[in-house]
Amino acid sequence: MQNVKLLIDGEFRSSASQHMIDVTNPASGDVIARVPDALAEETEQAVAAAKNAFNSWKNVPVTERARVMMRYQAILKREQERIAKVLASETGKVFDDAMGDVWRGIEVVEQAMNAPSMMMGETVENVARGIDTYSVVQPLGVCLGITPFNFPAMIPLWMFPLAVVCGNTFVLKPSEQDPQTPVLLAELFMEAGAPAGVLNVVHGGRERVDQLLNHPDIAAVSFVGSVPVGKHVYQTATANMKRAQCFAGAKNHTVVMPDANKQHVINNLVGASVGAAGQRCMAISVAVFVGDAQQWIDELASAIAEVKPGVWDDKEAGFGPLISNAAKERVLGLIQSGKEEGATCLVDGSECTVEGYEQGHWIGPTVFSDVTTTMRIYQEEIFGPVLCCLCVDSLDEALAIVNDNPYGNGTSIFTASGAAARKYQSEVSVGQVGINVPIPVPLPFFSFTGWKNSFFGDLHAYGKQAVRFYTETKTITSRWPEDSIPAGPNLTINLR
Ligand code: NAD
Repeated sequence: MQNVKLLIDGEFRSSASQHMIDVTNPASGDVIARVPDALAEETEQAVAAAKNAFNSWKNVPVTERARVMMRYQAILKREQERIAKVLASETGKVFDDAMGDVWRGIEVVEQAMNAPSMMMGETVENVARGIDTYSVVQPLGVCLGITPFNFPAMIPLWMFPLAVVCGNTFVLKPSEQDPQTPVLLAELFMEAGAPAGVLNVVHGGRERVDQLLNHPDIAAVSFVGSVPVGKHVYQTATANMKRAQCFAGAKNHTVVMPDANKQHVINNLVGASVGAAGQRCMAISVAVFVGDAQQWIDELASAIAEVKPGVWDDKEAGFGPLISNAAKERVLGLIQSGKEEGATCLVDGSECTVEGYEQGHWIGPTVFSDVTTTMRIYQEEIFGPVLCCLCVDSLDEALAIVNDNPYGNGTSIFTASGAAARKYQSEVSVGQVGINVPIPVPLPFFSFTGWKNSFFGDLHAYGKQAVRFYTETKTITSRWPEDSIPAGPNLTINLR
């Protein structure tokens, strides 16, 4: 049985903690590793190592920092399959999806390789006679990342490569449910030439997180996870005067217009709703059918019913199990509530099992129609392979539903009408919009821009916004008088 290591000051070490948390294979229920709830003093050592490393790392030329990312990108590509297999063993994701989890993280490392141009400041010559003003961006210090279970490769890679390439050092607190993947990412980062202390990894739950959020040497906090924890992290970090960006839960709607291509809609919504067992923050969990598009619900439900859950290396499997038994019980409770509250269960995955893996946390594809906005299955984030279908008469009604929803992570519209698409993208109160694209996760040269209860903060993940989040701007106004300096004191605020 492997005990997952901490990374402190360049050394992978076993925790002295007596409190170990089981890491399970969600497909079998077997315990595959144990992760420590790190001791307070170990967490303190991780922050101290990061603080110490910052003194030299911030002065390493940005080109050299970018070269660490170039080597890291090559190593991650070389090791993509190995990482994906570790990831699949602790998340249950099917192999292609696990490869995708790693790949979307590699793309962020590629973005981090562009640090020299992303960190360029601005200059205006001659803002007054003989005076120039220019700005530079400088790193903040020690940054903290707290990550969820559902993308154990991609989401840590949203954070530390960009923070570190900007000259910061980092403490990562990954999900205790699948910590082996982020620790492997950290091992490979050391292999790429990251100096000791630049990246540190500590494990644990609320107590460790609170210790870090209250630590005076942490300058900025990036969090991804559920809404209640996201609010707690944002409130605690900002109450401690830290910069914070917290990405939280979601309820993503797609709107299906009657002029859309039916087959395109069905092909796209199958994967967008039940892919990764619905455990994606950008999963489509609500489909709003407008007018005659309502007639496609049964056909969509039949296509979704065809998708079979299975173990990671089963090539026929469309998705894997839920992460834990607790997650499974929560989703089963929501499916039951949908039935009791009067929704029609067209496809019911609550009795699902996979032969040979009866202890796995399986839920099959599930589709509800006749859903109303007052039902729990509509109001709560299900985070399971469950699609809720609603029907309306017009695009305006669909927009009203989406805009009334408290979440604003992602949405999409399927239509053949440019006018409908333009109205939707303009009027919808959601931060990431797909037009005939179901899950509009932007590539890392843009930013991941959830809104409303799906995000607390102002500067988003990756892209230019991440560089602004992980740096402070300094503006310099300078005069180098060649001949005579202006006579007498200047008692005004004007430059002369
Ligand atoms: P979670 O909130 O339970 O855990 C996230 C992190 O917070 C973990 O590292 C965990 O150890 C820590 N944590 C848990 N409880 C805590 C507490 N009480 N105090 C302090 N820290 C605590 O989330 P999860 O179940 O791992 O992930 C699923 C959630 O993440 C879903 O709601 C999903 O929508 C969301 N998510 C959002 C995005 C996004 O970009 N908006 C992306 C991925 C996942």
